[in-house]
Amino acid sequence: MQQPESGRARIDIVQRFAVERQSVRGQFVRLGPAWLALREHGDYPEPVRRMLGEAVTAAVLLASTLKFEGELTLQLQGDGAVRLLVAQCTHDFRIRAVARFDRERVEASMRPAVLADPFAVLAGAGTLVVTVEADRRASRYQGVVPISGGSLAASLEHYFENSEQLPTAVVLGADDFGTAGLLVQRMPDHGGVVTASIDTANQTFAAARAAIGSVQRDELLARPPEDLMRRAFSGLDLRVHDSHPIGFRCRCSRERVSGMLRSLGLEEVRSIIAEQQSVTVTCEFCHRPWRFDPVDALRLFGAAVDQVPGSTTLN
Ligand SMILES: [Zn+2]
Repeated sequence: MQQPESGRARIDIVQRFAVERQSVRGQFVRLGPAWLALREHGDYPEPVRRMLGEAVTAAVLLASTLKFEGELTLQLQGDGAVRLLVAQCTHDFRIRAVARFDRERVEASMRPAVLADPFAVLAGAGTLVVTVEADRRASRYQGVVPISGGSLAASLEHYFENSEQLPTAVVLGADDFGTAGLLVQRMPDHGGVVTASIDTANQTFAAARAAIGSVQRDELLARPPEDLMRRAFSGLDLRVHDSHPIGFRCRCSRERVSGMLRSLGLEEVRSIIAEQQSVTVTCEFCHRPWRFDPVDALRLFGAAVDQVPGSTTLN
């Protein structure tokens, strides 16, 4: 197995920070082992891997800006070579992600000119959808913006400005060994700790945006977060919060798969049993197979255990 270049920290963390006495805050995310675990069973071509890595990093950045208990889903849907990309992050930073793509179109697009900046070809024209679902309440938030600006980072900035009215600067990067993302936001001016003037905070944000805009992908992936923050906020006091670990953990369960089979309907499930003698649903995220024998599968519909496929009446 290939090894990452030396100096790369093999960690999975999200870290929040804020500029002292100003309405400017940010988040830094770096994924290493969790990124490798997440795509262990996925066979993704290089440009799709990069897009997937950036998307799951973006999902963590989004989740870390919110107070919620549940799951945040970032979804890219477009007419490009990647038809659908889903990246999820829970409030306690458990991540998973999957992409559906057209392999021929991805391979056709792997020319040097495109590889330097593959996002437009991979994503095409489409939408970025952010959904937040609460665990215990039936509440759901959804924001939709067009994919724009030729990158996922630019689309995310657009999302924040549009859906939350927060000027935001984002930089994202991913390779085979890790991913990283840095987000800086100009927050509304209220609260007791803000003493700097609005103009000062605006200038701080503008300078940070320019500074992180000049960060190269290799630097983003390899340099310690403190270096990048110091570059973005030179000469300013930063309040850096404790980092929080991130882990790959799939949320699939027998219960969730049961719900999915119920929504398919009894007739469909019976026809699968007739064809394959059982029902196996493989999780798209972690590739775990969930197998239901005919008895288990029919029981999901409250059907009697002795009603085998081929029988005609069910009440
Ligand atoms: Zn799973």
